[in-house]
Amino acid sequence: MQKDEIYTITITDQTTEGEGIGHAGSFALFVKDTVIGDTVECRVMKLKKSYGYAKLLRVVSPSKDRIEARCPHARPCGGCQIQEMDYAAALQFKTKKVKEALLRIGGFGNVPIRDCIGMTDPWRYRNKALVPFGRDRDGRVTAGFFAGRTHTIIETDDCLLSPPEFSMIISAVKEHLERFRIPVYDETSHEGLFRHLLIRKGFSTGEILIAAVLNGETLPESERLIASIQAVLQPFSARLAVFAVNVNKTPGNVVLSPDTRVLYGPGTIEDRIGSIRFRISPNSFFQVNPVMTEILYGKALEFARLTGKETVWDLYSGIGSISLFLAKKAGKVYGVEVIPQAIEDANENARLNGITNASFFAGRAEEVLPEWAETNPSEQIDVIVTDPPREGCDRKCLDTMLRLSPERIVYVSCNPATLARDLRILSDGGYRIEEVQPVDMFPWTGHCESCVLLSKIAAAKHHIYVTVTMDELDLTSAEAKATYQEI
Ligand code: SAH
Repeated sequence: MQKDEIYTITITDQTTEGEGIGHAGSFALFVKDTVIGDTVECRVMKLKKSYGYAKLLRVVSPSKDRIEARCPHARPCGGCQIQEMDYAAALQFKTKKVKEALLRIGGFGNVPIRDCIGMTDPWRYRNKALVPFGRDRDGRVTAGFFAGRTHTIIETDDCLLSPPEFSMIISAVKEHLERFRIPVYDETSHEGLFRHLLIRKGFSTGEILIAAVLNGETLPESERLIASIQAVLQPFSARLAVFAVNVNKTPGNVVLSPDTRVLYGPGTIEDRIGSIRFRISPNSFFQVNPVMTEILYGKALEFARLTGKETVWDLYSGIGSISLFLAKKAGKVYGVEVIPQAIEDANENARLNGITNASFFAGRAEEVLPEWAETNPSEQIDVIVTDPPREGCDRKCLDTMLRLSPERIVYVSCNPATLARDLRILSDGGYRIEEVQPVDMFPWTGHCESCVLLSKIAAAKHHIYVTVTMDELDLTSAEAKATYQEI
């Protein structure tokens, strides 16, 4: 195979990044913007030993699942990856990805995996936009989204994943920058003032928070900008509640600095997930799809089967969103999270909701949990919920979870691959996978969340296993005790 050669191939699989995969002889070709079942003509752009990347030239015969993208920017924009796949097919595709990961990485051939739960209306679900600003070749201010894997800004007038008023706000900011000749930031030279615009909306309250990320301290004529944003929001069921600047003079990809200065409003907005209220600041983490978050947390709560007496650990607890959900139904909840600001938010959110049975520890789950287990050897843990980042749980954390031996473990995951790896460890440690529920938190992207229920295999089996091992090894009782602990 040579670069620039043209092939006609059929797409038989798709990566989680949404690229279609087809074969030309023994060569696998990755082709962006294709759907499983398409036959396409494509040009080879880049070659590796046994695979390559090709550019879609023409769809020769479309897959039965191919639809027209609703957004004109769907192909170049890095925000969506599978807008040309029918939504019902996309849900099946996500279920299949979870199934494949569990089989291939975890070795689980026969676990109950439910169909991925989708959104009734999978559009305009995002409550947050982080919009980069730049200038086009003619020197006009542009704003939009980064193209996939690059920092080229795709000018996007209206992102169909965000509320419609976000585009009005972006236009008002663009006009303001042009009108007052405010220099826009240039990544390469690290010059210019205006870097990014952060917009968040409390879907249940209609409150909007805006933060202008600046390579400097002040935004010229900010009062006028606040007034024009208020004006454009008039026709919408939304109101400007907070306007802030975020001072970020550091070059690089980190968008927000910790230095936020509020120019208008109280500094935080409020939103609800289910019956729990959350206070959100520009820097706080909050799930971007509140509708599906409620469904996902609802599953976690259902799987936890709480009766009001249980003691629960919520690992990787963020701002305490799952913990507070659980706390209403549990005896006591402990949360652990590495970001200290998130712990402050979690405590504040507990107060806001009158929840007094949740306490939060700042630190790494793999350090805090073993230390806690060491200092509280007699405290029984009934349920552990874990919701780690993409890398999954640390091995030390998993080992301590097993040592704490809860009746149930609820694993919430945003990465099927690390989920499968960790489930293997938990399963080998004496837990059975009862149910796997994929949830589509991010429609039109390749991402898939899952919620998994594991239950402890009856203690009697453990007992028999340990007894036999001790007899065989002819251990003294002290050694047996140590071995038992290790097992
Ligand atoms: N359960 C929360 C957040 C989940 S996101 C929610 O639903 O809102 C994963 C969280 O894990 C992030 O808040 C991240 O800061 C935190 N985190 C990452 N590594 C960690 C570690 N080693 N120990 C504890 N928390 C960690």
